[in-house]
Amino acid sequence: MTLTEKILARAAGKAQVTAGDNIWVNADVLMTHDVCGPGTIGVFKREFGKDAKVWDRQRVVIIPDHYIFTADSKSNRNVDILRDFAREQQLPYFYDVIDDANGNWKFDATKGLLKKQYGSNYAGVCHAALPQKGHTRPGEILFGTDSHTCMAGAFNEFATGIGNTDAGFVLGTGKLLIKVPETMRFRFEGRLQPGVMAKDIILHIIGEIGFDGATYRAMQFDGPGVASLSMDDRMTIANMAIEAGGKNGIFPFDARTAEYIESRTRLNGTKQKYEPVEADADQKFIYETVINLDKLEPTVACHPDPGQRKKVTEMADVKLDRAYIGSCTGGKTSDFVEFARIVRGRRVSIDTFGVPATPEIVHDLQTTRWGDQTIWDILVGSGVQMTENAGCAACLGGPVDTFGRMNTPMKCISATNRNFPGRMGHKESQVFLASPATVAASAVAGRVADPREYSN
Ligand code: SF4
Repeated sequence: MTLTEKILARAAGKAQVTAGDNIWVNADVLMTHDVCGPGTIGVFKREFGKDAKVWDRQRVVIIPDHYIFTADSKSNRNVDILRDFAREQQLPYFYDVIDDANGNWKFDATKGLLKKQYGSNYAGVCHAALPQKGHTRPGEILFGTDSHTCMAGAFNEFATGIGNTDAGFVLGTGKLLIKVPETMRFRFEGRLQPGVMAKDIILHIIGEIGFDGATYRAMQFDGPGVASLSMDDRMTIANMAIEAGGKNGIFPFDARTAEYIESRTRLNGTKQKYEPVEADADQKFIYETVINLDKLEPTVACHPDPGQRKKVTEMADVKLDRAYIGSCTGGKTSDFVEFARIVRGRRVSIDTFGVPATPEIVHDLQTTRWGDQTIWDILVGSGVQMTENAGCAACLGGPVDTFGRMNTPMKCISATNRNFPGRMGHKESQVFLASPATVAASAVAGRVADPREYSN
């Protein structure tokens, strides 16, 4: 069996499963957020009764993150619905925006969009927050009401996005009926060259198979090249499995995974026991390919979908209006570090927005010093508009007052993960997906630029 089949078989209590089998699996964690949480809670109450209790309080994680820093009252109200539910169900893992368990969330637009407006429990973008807060574990099943839940496959778990109806059912029963996906194997060999990042790997792969090339399939990333990839790198790659239509993305377990999981579960007092999976020698794939990491180049996915792959070197004549670094995919500490390496000592020439994925990342950037400057200072000093309000921000467009949202037609290069028309705001805008390094070089040049020419 493949990694995915091994996990699904275990979660179904079976010795063996085969692609195409329909099986009931037990969920280890159900995650929801402010966009889908209210709907999920509605389904749960309708189907299980208004006084029903969730199947396991310890396994429900609620993370408001999407439409938070906006004056839109309906969006603010969604956070209140989550708080009411968490209080009613006594959920230990609700990462509220405010500290008052009986309060109401209201964004104060008069304070502006840059200065922090959240309390001590706020966790930021769910997919980056889940591992940081110790909720991802090898061998487990994570369901989340968000398509990029697949990011947690970096940790050798089966993680996938589900709709509100399924999530309401999981809330009540802890189970879900799943069709075992076929597995596509991407075997990594070699290692990335300077200026090339994990984002380039996944943009290359999606370009190869198309934005529907892995529809309802598991994408297994393995081979000797994995060892050189950090956990952040693996998260970037697994995150975008859905951009090829994948059911999930998954990596093998190794010492790096163990180190991350053990430190995070210990730090947060979450469950520390876990059982990773290893693929069988006779695992079967529907598709197999080798990716030579050392041959990859900085890559861009052009408008209007993540499969429109081009090498950066083919795009030097594309002028840009905006650059954006942020999101679960591209707003991690390591992403900002690579960005800062390039803009250090230079200035961006177009509007450039920076949105860290989590408050912990804000803290990392504001406390890590290069010489006499913090990374945050370097970014701000180069002209990047950095907000402390970690969250999804303009990755998903959002209400019109969302930080970095494209409210007029323009061309933007972005470290985010999705570029269908209208994704980041105006439906006539064009979004070019790229690595943080390529976004940084392009922000300086004002056109699509090769980060290898901007190394410091
Ligand atoms: S940062 Fe973007 S892709 Fe990630 S969860 Fe938020 S809206 Fe979705």
